[in-house]
Amino acid sequence: MSRKISGTREWAVAEINCCIGCSYNCRYCYARLAALKNGSIAEPEAWVRSRIDHQATAAGHPRYPGQVMFPTAHDIDAHNLDASIQVIGNLLAAGNRVLIVSKPSLFCIERLCDRFYDERDRLLFRFTITARDDAMLAFWEPGAPVYRERLQALEFACNRDFATSVSIEPMLDGPDIEGLVADCTPYTTHSIWIGKMNKIDERVAVDTPRTAAEVARIRSEQGDWCITAIYESLRKHPLVRWKESIKETVGLELLQESGLDR
Ligand code: SF4
Repeated sequence: MSRKISGTREWAVAEINCCIGCSYNCRYCYARLAALKNGSIAEPEAWVRSRIDHQATAAGHPRYPGQVMFPTAHDIDAHNLDASIQVIGNLLAAGNRVLIVSKPSLFCIERLCDRFYDERDRLLFRFTITARDDAMLAFWEPGAPVYRERLQALEFACNRDFATSVSIEPMLDGPDIEGLVADCTPYTTHSIWIGKMNKIDERVAVDTPRTAAEVARIRSEQGDWCITAIYESLRKHPLVRWKESIKETVGLELLQESGLDR
């Protein structure tokens, strides 16, 4: 029987974290909702007060049967950088290949590149860059780095000979996707993934007229007609990959196996 592979499972066979909460506090955050449901946080407002899980940080790891993703339920910021370095080191020590996913802080990426330079053949960076417009980024991802810093981090890691990739998921500015892809392409060695904002009703609290307007804009820009136009404009780009949300719209075959990252 076929099974539907979606979300982070398209990229990794295991998901590793060392924090509860995330200072970036994105409005569409899937991890905040999961933490509310499992009782890790009592209220949505607690999410931004990130705390380190020391047990998870110190934990040893097996050698997983494929690429491992870190982190998946928080980001890497100055507050948890040392803990993140410890976790990545533990994963590498067990022989794993690690996909590091982040809305990148240049300071953190410089530290990671220095620390793991000799193991870079088993690391792949994936930087989440969802728009070029800083006003959109500030609204949807209020604690995360601005566009220029994310692009600088991508350039820095690429110039240090790390494998680099980009995640434009969720795409926050559909009409500007081609420009964003063009900016990222010179510093990307692996792939540029594009995906929709998923489960908006469940994850985004529509608490102000501005939020309602932004949600309406996103819904309109990721309607079938717009997605098909984006797909047609970029389908021949050698680095572009489509997340399951877009594959479904344009009729591409979905992955049957987790962690393939292609
Ligand atoms: S960076 Fe990721 S984990 Fe952090 S708030 Fe944003 S979506 Fe959630």
